[in-house]
Amino acid sequence: MKIRIRIPLKINLFLPVSIIIIIVVTAVTLLFINRSINAFNEEITKNLQLEIETISKIFEREVSFNLEKVQTNLRVAHMHFYDLPLEVTNQTYEMEVEDQVSGDKHIACLREWQLDGKPLSENKDFVNNLTNIIIGGTIAIFQEIDSGFVRISTNEQDSDSTSVSCTFIPNNSPMSEAIRGGEIYYGLALVMDKWHTTACEPINLNDTLVGMLYVGNKENDMGELKRILSDFKIGKSGYPFVFDNDGNMLIHPYLEGGSWCDSSFFKQMQGSKEGFFEYKKDRNLTTVAYKYFVKLELYIAALIVPKIENREFVHNAIIGAATIGVLSILLLMALIYRFTTERLYRYFSEWQIAKKKLATAELALKHSEKLANMGQISAGIVHELNNPLGIITMYSNILINELNEDDPMRKDLELIAEQALRCKNIVGGLLNFARKNKLNINEVDIVDFIKRSLQNTVIPANVKVNINGNISNPMIMMDDEQMLHAITNLEKNAVEAMPDGGTLNITIDGDNDNIQIRIADTGTGIAKENIEKLFTPFFTTKEAGKGTGLGLSLVYGIIKIHKGKIAVSSNDNPKEGPTGTEFIITLPRIN
Ligand code: ADP
Ligand code: MG
Repeated sequence: MKIRIRIPLKINLFLPVSIIIIIVVTAVTLLFINRSINAFNEEITKNLQLEIETISKIFEREVSFNLEKVQTNLRVAHMHFYDLPLEVTNQTYEMEVEDQVSGDKHIACLREWQLDGKPLSENKDFVNNLTNIIIGGTIAIFQEIDSGFVRISTNEQDSDSTSVSCTFIPNNSPMSEAIRGGEIYYGLALVMDKWHTTACEPINLNDTLVGMLYVGNKENDMGELKRILSDFKIGKSGYPFVFDNDGNMLIHPYLEGGSWCDSSFFKQMQGSKEGFFEYKKDRNLTTVAYKYFVKLELYIAALIVPKIENREFVHNAIIGAATIGVLSILLLMALIYRFTTERLYRYFSEWQIAKKKLATAELALKHSEKLANMGQISAGIVHELNNPLGIITMYSNILINELNEDDPMRKDLELIAEQALRCKNIVGGLLNFARKNKLNINEVDIVDFIKRSLQNTVIPANVKVNINGNISNPMIMMDDEQMLHAITNLEKNAVEAMPDGGTLNITIDGDNDNIQIRIADTGTGIAKENIEKLFTPFFTTKEAGKGTGLGLSLVYGIIKIHKGKIAVSSNDNPKEGPTGTEFIITLPRIN
């Protein structure tokens, strides 16, 4: 079985709008939260790149600081070197030398140098003295050969702690080119596989280039940078790290000394100058930004876990957006309820009332149409029927009078006279219709009028009549002749409904504008299915000869042309209470 639930009109109007508002505001809120989190994450990545930029600057500063250091060291070395007499002897010796860039070896012919009267190859005094002065730096003297510059004295130690002296810097290196051009050279140079900040100058003897004086500082010595970077914190979860071209971790909080050359991220990064990527670490997405630091040939990188960083922000964004969302929903709903739903509701209610009124009006119109038709038809036929009926009645009565009391035709003639009279009654009723459109208004005392109407009605002995006429101003304007027809018809009907006797109660009430007359009987009552048909012309429940069915339609017509109303309430079922009928007439005082 289908159950139909009646939803009140207000909810019906308000519900769809509310659902739309809730959906729209929720969608906007979620979009806002999503956008905010994305913006925050973007900001995190940007910050990470900024951090790397900062670290690059620190590295840069460290490099230039080292450069300054070697410049000073070169000046010190220069002063000490030229304090001692240098002699390049004609004594030569052969030695296998190795190109320190390509590793190529060949035999070179070198000349014996004497510094302070001692052969340089045996005299370590100069470099050793200087080592004590220029702390932490390296110092070397190079001899010019055809293919470049060979180290002939140095404090640099090879891994087997012997002095490095058989490698040479080839002619195509920027350092050799500068020296051959007679210039002092500053910059980074690869010495024994390590990057050094270097400074060197040519050694000339009798205007001939014979060698160069070199000082350097190892750059890949990460001690100082490590110290700085260990204090470097990025947010709650981030840290910087440094690795070289081969993937060796140079600075890292816990992977230092290791290598990540096999990692796919490292391979992905190799060859690229800067960028960032994301990867999953302990189920958290981690962002890594990196930059290649050209001068030292290493990568500076930093990582951060956005989820840890934005946890608080996301929490606040969700609570904030949700609060604003709920408040906006409530506000919008209140506004819409106040300005739209209420109005729509009023509009629809008025519309429904108007619809009902229209239906009632249509019914009334049908009624009036019926009556109007009746009026037209009546006017036409009444004239035609009245005369012949008069003649039939008159002659049948004459014939009855002329016949003997026991004449067998007497009964037939009496029937003719009776039926002719019935026809005359019907015609008389129709005549009333024809006439009722014209009103003849008088001022009437309604209580007197009701009393007068009762004198016109035959009241049997078993019917009791009560008039309740307690009204301060009984005066009303109406066509009393027509109204008398109406009221007496109602009284007649009431009496006819009480064949076994009863009470006829007539109550008169009134206010400033209207007067109300209630005509109530304790009769049989009217069946529910007949209530609607009461005012229809020719509707009657009475046997032929007794009722014409024109009484109530005449009453209706007369009340209407007085701009009044007539209503009826009735009970014909003794089980539901005392039976009886009440007609309620409301008439305006002024017509
Ligand atoms: P008629 O009286 O000629 O039948 P009416 O138009 O006066 O015609 O009344 C129509 C019908 O309405 C009556 O036949 C009767 O059935 C019913 N009726 C009218 N007034 C009453 C009443 N007071 N009590 C019961 N029935 C009534
Ligand atoms: Mg009647």
